[in-house]
Amino acid sequence: MTEENGKCDSCAQKGSCKDKDAGKEGTCIVDRMARIKHKIIIASGKGGVGKSTISVNLARALQMKGLQVGVLDADITGPDIPKLLGIEDQKLMQGSEGIEPADANGIKAASMALILSSRETPVVWRGPMKMAAIKQFIQDVNWGDLDFLIVDLPPGTSDEPLSVLQLIPDLAGAIIVTTPQEVSLLDSRKAVNMVKAMKLPVLGIVENMSGLKCPHCQETINIFGSGGGERMAEEMDAPFLGAIPIDPQVCAWGDSGQTFAGCKTQAGESFALIVERLLKMFN
Ligand code: ADP
Repeated sequence: MTEENGKCDSCAQKGSCKDKDAGKEGTCIVDRMARIKHKIIIASGKGGVGKSTISVNLARALQMKGLQVGVLDADITGPDIPKLLGIEDQKLMQGSEGIEPADANGIKAASMALILSSRETPVVWRGPMKMAAIKQFIQDVNWGDLDFLIVDLPPGTSDEPLSVLQLIPDLAGAIIVTTPQEVSLLDSRKAVNMVKAMKLPVLGIVENMSGLKCPHCQETINIFGSGGGERMAEEMDAPFLGAIPIDPQVCAWGDSGQTFAGCKTQAGESFALIVERLLKMFN
């Protein structure tokens, strides 16, 4: 809060806040985020490893437990959350308390894809504009009172992931998603180190696309290798939350805007164990 604006009276950082926009309109980031109990980052070093898939399924799994959940799609140039949640036809609208999030059967969501005129429109923006958009999603979206906010980070360790980590106060920590493949593990180690460098807890590593069970002979084919996520977690002194197999259904459901959390499939059951391990950290 600055002396000139002086509106953020309820803010815990009143008096020391360096946000030059604080109080100018609506609430400041600290006020907005204070209404959310747990803010979790989903990160990966590399794209295409299933980070967004895990973000939406974690949100759905938590919602199925009766919790209030939101998903913030911080991937400005590759915003896939609306597709995966089946809400591509919705648009973010200005309301009296800020930008109203989209509603995916009870999950609140904000994404660049809910602003663009068409799903093929590219976001050709340089860093500062992308960071301004991320800040708006955090500060101006009317998230309301939530138990969990799941933040789907863009891959890598540069400007955008860093600004999210810096902008959101009191982050609970990050989940790092990797495949068992060495090239993914290599980049995921960097993501773990980024989180640690920001003095945030690594809540755990999830190994996704971990083997494919042949539907004919039932043998497991380790397309991307196996066990790399667990080994990496051990080496980096981070909890291993579990592994999710490759499942063509996961892919098909994602494409049709459906989640697999709660399904009685191998992937659904592996995911349920991951969610249980995670929730133990919040009890
Ligand atoms: P990221 O967010 O890391 O770029 P996505 O979540 O978009 O990755 O996933 C990339 C693709 O892989 C999507 O088509 C998704 O449906 C698919 N996918 C993710 N996890 C699995 C899985 N366990 N089995 C099969 N397909 C998966």
